[in-house]
Amino acid sequence: MTEDFRGKRGQVPKKLQTVVLVGRPNVGKSTLFNRITGIRRAIVAPIAGTTRDVNSSKAEWGGVRFLLTDTGGMFGASEDPLHDMVSARGQRALQEASVVVFVADAVSGALPADQEVAEALRGSGKPVVLAVNKSDDRRAQAGTLEFHRLGFEPVIAISAEHGRGIGDLLEEVIARLGSRPAPVTEPAGEAADAGEEADSAAPPRDERPDVTAVAIVGRPNVGKSSLVNRMLREERVLVSPMPGTTRDAIDTELQWRKRRFRIVDTAGIRRPGSVARSGAVERVSAMQSKRAIERAEVVVLVLDSVEGATDQDAAIAGAADKAGRGLIVAANKWDLLKDGGPPAARKFDDELARQMKFLDYAPVIHISARTGERVPKLLETIDRVSERRRRRVPSGELNRFVRDVTAANPPVSPGRREVRVMYATQVAIAPPTFVFFTNVATTFHFSYERFLVNRLREAFGFEGSPIRIEVRARSGRR
Ligand code: GDP
Ligand code: GDP
Repeated sequence: MTEDFRGKRGQVPKKLQTVVLVGRPNVGKSTLFNRITGIRRAIVAPIAGTTRDVNSSKAEWGGVRFLLTDTGGMFGASEDPLHDMVSARGQRALQEASVVVFVADAVSGALPADQEVAEALRGSGKPVVLAVNKSDDRRAQAGTLEFHRLGFEPVIAISAEHGRGIGDLLEEVIARLGSRPAPVTEPAGEAADAGEEADSAAPPRDERPDVTAVAIVGRPNVGKSSLVNRMLREERVLVSPMPGTTRDAIDTELQWRKRRFRIVDTAGIRRPGSVARSGAVERVSAMQSKRAIERAEVVVLVLDSVEGATDQDAAIAGAADKAGRGLIVAANKWDLLKDGGPPAARKFDDELARQMKFLDYAPVIHISARTGERVPKLLETIDRVSERRRRRVPSGELNRFVRDVTAANPPVSPGRREVRVMYATQVAIAPPTFVFFTNVATTFHFSYERFLVNRLREAFGFEGSPIRIEVRARSGRR
């Protein structure tokens, strides 16, 4: 399963070292694999043992390349009485591993099956990093404490789904890869050729899943159900209500041009005739919004343009941002305001920008679910935002960015030593996540982080997507 690749100067072809994901079913290996490689290949479903094949893909972190292998289904698919704890293929994958990432689940806690996996791993003698996934979940046990008794250090809390802690995890992984292969990226200045080479190995540009999950959220009566109905009318090719992941969630799929959109949780929004405005209704809708956001790639926040944005709208937008989803603001009922012409639109947008300062990346579309005005434009924007947040910046371009932007505007150093950004890597997509490597350990001031985010957005697009930034000292080892 391993592949060769040419060393940086094109001399010695080096065998890529292999990092293997191991863990019982349903802990999130497949999600983590997708998160690190940016590839969406296996069906992620809450059914034990859904992903059964060995899957490998090249990955890179902190300038180090490796092969990532997911052993989904090869460890403890214990529903199957004939299935050994570790299948032959699992054994093989383990033998080839340079480092093992043992994935466990913070929601379920450490189970006997985890103990069994731990035994198998101890037998292999391989270096193990334990990743406790789903730490974003409210039901997650208090931290990683109980996982230490599985006997591995370090134990790192992550959320594969939200992209949290992935940098920390990979940092530990890289530190355990035997002899460090030559970095594929170099400090700014000497980067050009190494960067170009990395580009040729970059994954294909459109890394999107076949179906884009979209959440239509907002307060009661802003026009969500009218909008969904209008969208379905716009393109009536494919309409199929299908059960979502929870019992009362119904999703609806529609085809738009060559893309398929799945509107999640339409059961919640299509309930007709509720005009009540009591606190209870607001609370229910807030809960539905939250659930829909969790399940979506792109969030469309619907506002009533006459009323403008409220605190609850800001809260919903904040939740989308926090979850790393794409965000679009649909200013609905624009038919009631459009007599004001472009000045009215500008005034509305300015006011909105003032209310939601930190969400200036979200495109605002003035629509009317009633007349259908600009609903096609909304669909087009959903498509574009879903593409942008999965964009991967080629390392050559990122190195040029570092050279042009951070060299001209270095971070302000809190201590005595001058802080310089040496190079940067995009470690994840959806949302795009960048690690900036500095000459000394430091943190970026909030305003500098914001500066970088704005510049990254200017340089590479990312319309409608939050951008995450991490900082690390260049020497990877601790
Ligand atoms: P695998 O069987 O180990 O490959 O697990 P999957 O990647 O298929 O994930 C199993 C389930 O856990 C899916 O429903 C995922 O959506 C969910 N999941 C994965 N990672 C996370 C996470 O970081 N947080 C939460 N809350 N759920 C997750
Ligand atoms: P929901 O509670 O967010 O799903 O809102 P509805 O879709 O039920 O709409 C609430 C009310 O606003 C209904 O009376 C709709 O007819 C009206 N409405 C929805 N969209 C528009 C629009 O674009 N323009 C106007 N003028 N009214 C709208």
